[in-house]
Amino acid sequence: MRLILLGPPGAGKGTQAKILIDAFGIPQLSTGDILRSAIAAKTPMGLAAKEIMDRGDLVSDEIVNGIVSERLDQDDCRAGFVLDGFPRTIPQAEALDTMLKTKGMALDAVLELTADPDVLVGRIAKRAKESGAVRADDNEDVLRNRLAVYREQTAPLVSYYRGKGMLKSVDGTQPVDVVSAAIRSVLGR
Ligand code: AMP
Repeated sequence: MRLILLGPPGAGKGTQAKILIDAFGIPQLSTGDILRSAIAAKTPMGLAAKEIMDRGDLVSDEIVNGIVSERLDQDDCRAGFVLDGFPRTIPQAEALDTMLKTKGMALDAVLELTADPDVLVGRIAKRAKESGAVRADDNEDVLRNRLAVYREQTAPLVSYYRGKGMLKSVDGTQPVDVVSAAIRSVLGR
């Protein structure tokens, strides 16, 4: 099962990816997680990505395309994978098409988790206030930027994959188990 999870920040992609990897025994490929590990390990790539990620902007297509291409070559991806947070731009999606073709792999579906941006901002702001760990307004600013970046650069992927007949949309604002059941239902699995 080779899947892409698409949707705005806070729509539950990470949570649903974890459920899918358990259900299908396939790995989650999160470019965000890989970049955060690179930051923690202070690699040159991590150092280059940190400021960009702190602002909520996108790191270069070149960097993330390289990460994904390398990751797809690892043995555990043979049975499939869930891409979480990649692709995020049309050029990334085109690069992925080429990569998969070269590697002899084909996608099964692109799952879009839909969510109203206002609900997402409210959710994150509430969480930030409750945790008290960071200033809620700082977090809210970054989230608003990430949502703007999503709208401008990532949302066009919805039409891109719909045009290829691969898009399946699920309302991501429902409870976690309802969303995961809806995903299984659209996948027919
Ligand atoms: P995520 O954990 O998927 O929300 O990603 C966190 C951050 O990592 C994003 O806000 C971007 O700065 C960066 N990032 C993750 N995936 C990508 C990608 N496919 N393209 C560009 N930047 C990415």
